Amino acid sequence: GRASPPLAALSQVLRLERSRRTAIVFPLQKLERYLAPGTDTAPFRLFQPGLATLQRAEALFRSDRGHPIDYVSSAVRMDHAPPPALPEVCFIGRSNVGKSSLIRALFSLAPEVEVRVSKTPGHTKKMNFFKVGKYFTLVDMPGYGYRAPQDFVEMVEAYLQERHNLKRTFLLVDGVVGLQKTDHIAVEMLEEFGIPYVMVLTKIDRASRGLLLKNVLEIQEFVKENTQGCFPQLFLVSSVEFSGVHLLRCFVAHVTGNLPTVEAS
Ligand code: GDP
Repeated sequence: GRASPPLAALSQVLRLERSRRTAIVFPLQKLERYLAPGTDTAPFRLFQPGLATLQRAEALFRSDRGHPIDYVSSAVRMDHAPPPALPEVCFIGRSNVGKSSLIRALFSLAPEVEVRVSKTPGHTKKMNFFKVGKYFTLVDMPGYGYRAPQDFVEMVEAYLQERHNLKRTFLLVDGVVGLQKTDHIAVEMLEEFGIPYVMVLTKIDRASRGLLLKNVLEIQEFVKENTQGCFPQLFLVSSVEFSGVHLLRCFVAHVTGNLPTVEAS
């Protein structure tokens, strides 16, 4: 198999000096010191596991013979989806938001896992199912665009409404450009279905600190004022630098019921 990229594992991150380490493991926390006094940072720290918990979650994402992590199958219709046997999470977002890069980063400690991309125009968009041992499944939903064909919208809607083992939906938003019109359509759909979701800001290595702060505060405010089902803490990630990837693995492990408790750190 391929070698894991640097910083894919916590053990590598722990060798960095302290402030760099914080920036990688808790990217939101890194931003805190640049906020105006009085800014509400409570939503920054709702999910803040300690090292032992982060390591336990990482072990789930590391494959070995007794713990295979595999691509299972693709489906274009719900009746082609694998049986809903395990707790499941799904990842949705606009085309080009960085979804395949993020899923590749999450699975970088299982280099045999192939995250397929089907971007060719006209190529059928599919839901791709991955199985993480006997613990959970992760679904890569097709990217939506402003010209998403109706059958695609119906597939995503049917999945979100009918999938009873779905524990959480991860809505990816570009951290450089913030919420776009199509993201609002996705939010409205998730709100209408009343299912729990969380927003993940991607490509944070590309945004200046000022721009990232602006986008974080705006989206956080939007979530507070306009949503019921969205977790108030945003997750910031860079699939290039691996920032936020370890924390996101931990949150996935948590929402799929695979961490006994998450202690405060
Ligand atoms: P998808 O269509 O949502 O699956 O998006 P991709 O994962 O293919 O990413 C779209 C583009 O953004 C590609 O050129 C990636 O290299 C780039 N990209 C994705 N994630 C990141 C990131 O975290 N940082 C940077 N700098 N670029 C990224």
